[in-house]
Amino acid sequence: MKFLLSIMFILLIPAAIQARVQIVVTYPYMADIAKIVGADRVDVTSIASGRSHPHYVNVNAAAAHALKKADLLVVNGAGLEEAWIEGLMKSSARPSIQPGTDGYLDLSEIVTLLREDETAMQRTPQFTHQGVNPHHHLDPANIPVFADAIAARLRKLDDANASVYLANARAFNEQWKGKMKHWDSLLLDKKGATVVQRHALFDYYLRHYDILCAGSLEPAPGVSPTLQHANRILSETPPDRITFIIRDVFNTATAATHLGSRTGIKVIVLPHDVGSLPEAADIFSLFDEIARRLAE
Ligand SMILES: [Zn+2]
Repeated sequence: MKFLLSIMFILLIPAAIQARVQIVVTYPYMADIAKIVGADRVDVTSIASGRSHPHYVNVNAAAAHALKKADLLVVNGAGLEEAWIEGLMKSSARPSIQPGTDGYLDLSEIVTLLREDETAMQRTPQFTHQGVNPHHHLDPANIPVFADAIAARLRKLDDANASVYLANARAFNEQWKGKMKHWDSLLLDKKGATVVQRHALFDYYLRHYDILCAGSLEPAPGVSPTLQHANRILSETPPDRITFIIRDVFNTATAATHLGSRTGIKVIVLPHDVGSLPEAADIFSLFDEIARRLAE
């Protein structure tokens, strides 16, 4: 009997491992949400790291391998992965994670997207912002929408654990609601302030907190900053009305630093994704750190 039980136990282990839903996401912020919602019922791999340039991700072999056995692929969408995902999906040769299937979830389809300026769009290079701004995850109000969507999709793929996924998403969203109140209070006196950013990365975040943006140092998304364009921004908004110049971690510092030193406007570096700075270790601390740096 003891022997039989041991055999049964050994046979059950691989089955249990296989039962975990294999999730591949394109960016680390989704990995963190998926891990919270899926907990020990899922394995999650992120293709990009927090230090990747979000528009131009170098795909490593481990991520390509994970995609070949993925049950669910979650993408940011709105063109953010356009430069690099198509070839990767084709090479995965996995029909169950192609667009239109239950194994494919595009987060840009479930939130309201900000349109980009039409004239700037004519100068925008391929693979940057094609008509809409793709950095929608930086609106904190969108994060619970993503948690719910991932839970709903996991429910379809693994109905046996549906109640676990829904309960995890509900608990996460409650906690997130509390944090949003905290960030609201931190940024209350920044309401109506004006900033300049290096890349049009924080549009959703700034809009959420009623912080105005005098412009991006890139004349159009993906176009290198010029002195002429910086002067145009300053001619419309004098430096004494600009509180911060926001810099990201993946573009060179030169343009932001130069503008900061010639005008005296403070330059701050903001994390944009989980792992982009050591302080932004998870989805909560990512938004904690953005608020903290802006509130300083
Ligand atoms: Zn961008």
